[in-house]
Amino acid sequence: GLLPGGDEIAELVGLAHARYAEDGAGAVADYIPILAEADPSWFGLSLVGVDGRSASAGDIDVAFSIQSISKAFVFALVCEELGHEAIHDVVGVNNTGLAFNSVVAVELNGGSPMNSMVNAGAIATTALVPAADADERWQRIRDGLSRFAGRPLALDGEVYRSESFSNHRNQALARLLQSYDRLAIDPVEAVDIYTRQCSLAVTAADLAVMGATLAAGGTNPLTGDRVISVETSRDTLALLASCGMYERSGEWLFEIGLPAKSGVSGGIVAIAPGKGAVGTFSPPLDPAGNSVRGQRACAYLSRALGLNLFASA
Ligand code: GLU
Repeated sequence: GLLPGGDEIAELVGLAHARYAEDGAGAVADYIPILAEADPSWFGLSLVGVDGRSASAGDIDVAFSIQSISKAFVFALVCEELGHEAIHDVVGVNNTGLAFNSVVAVELNGGSPMNSMVNAGAIATTALVPAADADERWQRIRDGLSRFAGRPLALDGEVYRSESFSNHRNQALARLLQSYDRLAIDPVEAVDIYTRQCSLAVTAADLAVMGATLAAGGTNPLTGDRVISVETSRDTLALLASCGMYERSGEWLFEIGLPAKSGVSGGIVAIAPGKGAVGTFSPPLDPAGNSVRGQRACAYLSRALGLNLFASA
């Protein structure tokens, strides 16, 4: 069935927020210098149903850079263009079991970026966005992610500059992929566009709408816009289930039972197929890079709303 009606979702979202608002566990990311300035007390929570109903609590208007959560939606755009087989063959769909920015993962797998949710695979996926030049590629990504959100998303220039000056590791990953002939475009351009996509500013409410579009099979429940096909939504959610929460994807699925994607600025989007999605924002992270409050709030809502995909009753 769908999400419960009446005031129940608003009540549960409020309870989830209140329950973890004082929980200060975790550490704000600092390897991208500007991210270290985030307020560790920020906590926003939003739920959007496939029928367009929504509920939210806390800091849902605070904008933050989408970071790795962009990987899920750029994957969806590329999968829509290239198809299921090509994504499987060219990038891959298996978890690396290693950190999101691992060079070793590429080396251990004969140059394969493994999947589109780790940095190497995301850079390779961004390079596959069909376009004549860098400008067109960036426009297509920004417009595509904006359609998922149902409003025009803008670049956070401060985050983009901060990450551009500190992303040596991503530059190295792109060069490594190039050395294996696994990158469709120039590595400098691929990393630049990847860095831009990570710097798009969103809110927890945006994440919930973007997730709800996947939950609804590719149609944005607020705008009615068909962004991707039902098949691409399904493929995106399958990939998120195995790879969306870094090397803790197995633990997340075991506890929460939903496809999800997180990012180092503190966002998480968790999707209940056919029902809706939760967007959370809170900067303190666990060692894998997943927001601590976000994980707890998603676990609470998954239980309270009976969202776990593997529960038979
Ligand atoms: N832009 C970040 C990076 O490439 C994204 C990392 C993340 O959110 O996991 O390091």
